[in-house]
Formats: sequence, C-alpha cells, structure tokens
Amino acid sequence: MTAGITSTPGIKTPGNYINDVMALVKAKNPAEPEFHQAVQEVLESLRLVLERHPEYISARILERITEPERVLMFRVPWFDDQGGIQINRGFRIEMNSAIGPYKGGLRFHPSVNLGILKFLAFEQVFKNSLTTLPMGGGKGGSDFDPKGKSDNEVMRFCQSFMTELCRHIGPDTDVPAGDIGVGGREIGYMFGQYKRIRNEFTGVLTGKGLHWGGSLIRPEATGYGCVYFAEEMLKTRKETLEGKLCLVSGSGNVSQYTVEKLLDLGAKPVTFSDSDGAIYDPDGITREKLAWVMELKNTKRGRIRDYTDEHKKAIFMPTDLKLGHNPLWNIKADCAFPSATQNEINAKDATNLINNGCKVVAEGANMPSTLEATKLFLEAKVLYGPAKAANAGGVATSGLEMSQNSARLSWSREEVDHKLHNIMIAIHKTCFETAEEYGTPGNLVNGANIGGFLKVANSMLDQGLV
Ligand code: NAP
Repeated sequence: MTAGITSTPGIKTPGNYINDVMALVKAKNPAEPEFHQAVQEVLESLRLVLERHPEYISARILERITEPERVLMFRVPWFDDQGGIQINRGFRIEMNSAIGPYKGGLRFHPSVNLGILKFLAFEQVFKNSLTTLPMGGGKGGSDFDPKGKSDNEVMRFCQSFMTELCRHIGPDTDVPAGDIGVGGREIGYMFGQYKRIRNEFTGVLTGKGLHWGGSLIRPEATGYGCVYFAEEMLKTRKETLEGKLCLVSGSGNVSQYTVEKLLDLGAKPVTFSDSDGAIYDPDGITREKLAWVMELKNTKRGRIRDYTDEHKKAIFMPTDLKLGHNPLWNIKADCAFPSATQNEINAKDATNLINNGCKVVAEGANMPSTLEATKLFLEAKVLYGPAKAANAGGVATSGLEMSQNSARLSWSREEVDHKLHNIMIAIHKTCFETAEEYGTPGNLVNGANIGGFLKVANSMLDQGLV
C-alpha cells in the first residue's frame, strides 16, 4: 500500500499529528473559517484510522489531502443591460484527482470566496469517493449574484466566466455541475460558450438539458437521494417516513425535490425558506402547493414570502439575525432536511430540534450544521445523516450523466432512479458499517469521513508522491 513512499523520520502520535495539521491548515489558509471547520470535522474522525494505520502519518497524507492540487482565480468582466462594466471574481478549486477527474459544482452567490469554495471542494473529495463512482473532487463559482439580473445579463456573465474556465476543464480533466445560483439556465449558457470556443460537443458539464446530453433524474437527484438516505437511517430503527412531519429549509433545487420525494413516501413537509425568511404551512405542502412554489422559484424567480398571499393558513417568519436562532428549526417535527446553505443550524437550533422530538436530520445542503450542532445531534442519538453522505445523490447522478455521455446513450427515468436509489443504499451501508468497524456504532459522521477517506488515501499512496 505504501509503494514508492519512504516514511518521514520522527513519526508523530495520531493526536499530535492531527493537531499539527490543523494548525498548519489554519496558518496557510488564514481567514477561511468554513474551510477550517470542514477540515476539523474530518480530522477528528480520522484519529481512529491513524491509530490503526500509522503509514498514513509517515506518508503525510493529511497535509497532502488538505492542500488543493490546483487553485484558479480569475477576473470575470461583463456588460450589464445599461452598458455599464461589471467585474466579478471567478474560481475553480481542483482539490483531488486520485480516484477520477475533478468533479463538483459551481456556485454563483455574493457570499462566495476562496475559503467557502475550499471547504466545498474538500467535502466533495470524500463525498465523491462514497458514491462508489470514479470521481475526484473540485468546486468553483463566483461572487456574481444572479438574483435581480436579466436573462441577458446572466448569459453575458456565464459566457465571460466560461471564456476563462474552458482552458482548465474537460470531460477527462474536470467536469463542473450546478450548485447554489447555478441551475439549468446557467449550465446551458456555459455549455454553449464552451462548445463555441473549444469546437467540441462533450460531457464537460453535468446538469445539462435533456436534448443536449443531460440525464433524466439529475435535477431531482440530490433531494430524492437525501430522502432515500433518511429512509435507510429510519430502517435501522424499523421505522418509515410515512406520516412523519418534516421541516425543509431553502426553496431551490434540493428543497423542491426533497419535498416531492417526501410526498411520494407519505410524509408531511410543512416548511420552505429563502434568505428573506421561512414559511410554515400547518396543513402541509401538497403537490399543488409544491407546483406553485416551483413556478414561483424556477420561472418567476420570486420570493418565498409570496406563499402566504396565496395560501392563507401559512405564516411567514422573516429572517432576523439578532434572534440568534432560526424559528424554522423551532417548529415541532419528526425530521429535518436542511437544504439551503452552510451553518444554517447552530447549537441553539439543534437544541430546539432535539427538545421538540426531532428524530432524523438528513443534510441536503453542504455543512448546514455547525460543529457544535453536529455534536449535539450525535449525543442525543438523533439519526444524523451528514451532508457528504446524505446529499451525495446529486453528484452520483452527475457521474451517471458522464457515463451516458461517454457511451453516447440515454437511460430511462426508471433506470437512473433505480441506480440512484441503490447508490444511496450503498452509501448508507458503507457509513453504517464503517462506523461500527471503527468502534462508534451509529456515528455516521465517522462512517462517512472514514469510508470516503480510505479509498482516496490508498489511491494517493498507490500513485506515489504527486
Ligand atoms: P439553489 O437552487 O440556488 O437554492 C438555494 C436555496 O437556499 C434558495 O432557497 C436560497 O435562497 C437559499 N439560500 C442560499 N444562500 C442562503 C443564505 N446565505 N441564507 C439563507 N438562505 C440561503 O441551490 P441548491 O442547488 O438547492 O443548493 C442548496 C444547498 O444544497 C447548497 O448547500 C448546495 O451546496 C447543496 N447541494 C446542492 C446539490 C445540487 O445538486 N444542486 C448537490 C449537493 C449539495 P435565496 O434565493 O434567497 O438565495
């Protein structure tokens, strides 16, 4: 396993090694708290592995796995509708290619910065490994805000962004997808520009339209997959989602299809949110109401507060950062599906959920729980599905889109959904069994981190010091 690597003199104990790596990551990546948080969570789980496998310490795997293989940062100039010049910053973090081409989404949101994308790229490495498919980890995006922009402005931005990015990506090198602020419209504009500049029609992006290489079920995959994962967690306690009251945050791609699959399985979703606030519908969000939200968000590009104009029994709770907690997570429910953004559940929110009897937390968003909130869920024996396992269905189905593109064929909806479902069952099994094997039964955080790490770390050792 250690082929080609000579050990470093003076091997440290796992505890010292982890502390040193954490200090190094903070020193080399200052002012990037989200990246530090993501690394810390993984390193804490890996202590158990390092005790059994000191060869990872001598090969300095943790220093290598926390250092991106490549970081691209570039200017994205574009003209707005008034002819004014706008400048945004573009990024692509190519984190790790030990098990396949870099793969991970693009996020367009004003909060985007280097640290947020590094955290997302780091998480992606372990997530992609868990999917069982051959995909390395990457992430990218821009501080561009698509909200309030015309279609033409979004197109001009996407074209400018891809004019630079196209030099660095390719179907066997790096295959981006969507994330916050990047849906079918943005993928379309970027694919068009890539094709024009490179003069090639290849599967360089996933999340494409159905008529030009997209896969059935890709839009649904993250939400559906997250609910399949919750179902697997509940099975370990011989329970189902039938009749369960569910809180869902966000109202974008992941949230919409989480609600759809919850309805398929007989659960009762009661909330949606966006950055302005949350709606609570005590009667439950039905298929008709979901269709209304999809039209509002995907076509009219409106705000979730409008839900209460149309559905009179629902209430709107505006975002109030001074509160120190999110009222959405203080509604009595059986299950929570955070599906908006990072750190949307803090310790107070976690305590509220636990005190209100919440039994399941399945993370659709990336790193939606703070480290403190995660600890509280694990201590309270909540069935806690961490993001890198629970929301891996999206990238898994992107992997299936890549396979279909390479083979130049399209699978049916049923075929893709069946493969997605089986992948989510397999991911849960890996996390569950790995947690047991390392002496922490039920701790799917350890299960996901260790399960994802082993394949990547061993591949890195096999490939030598690169
Ligand atoms: P999306 O369609 O753009 O929707 C994002 C939703 O989250 C919107 O309702 C948005 O509200 C809300 N939101 C974003 N930033 C927020 C903030 N700072 N505070 C409060 N609300 C905020 O994006 P998405 O694809 O559903 O992604 C949601 C989450 O899932 C992200 O964490 C993403 O990384 C993760 N994820 C997505 C996929 C995928 O396949 N799409 C796969 C794995 C993980 P506004 O409209 O007000 O911004």
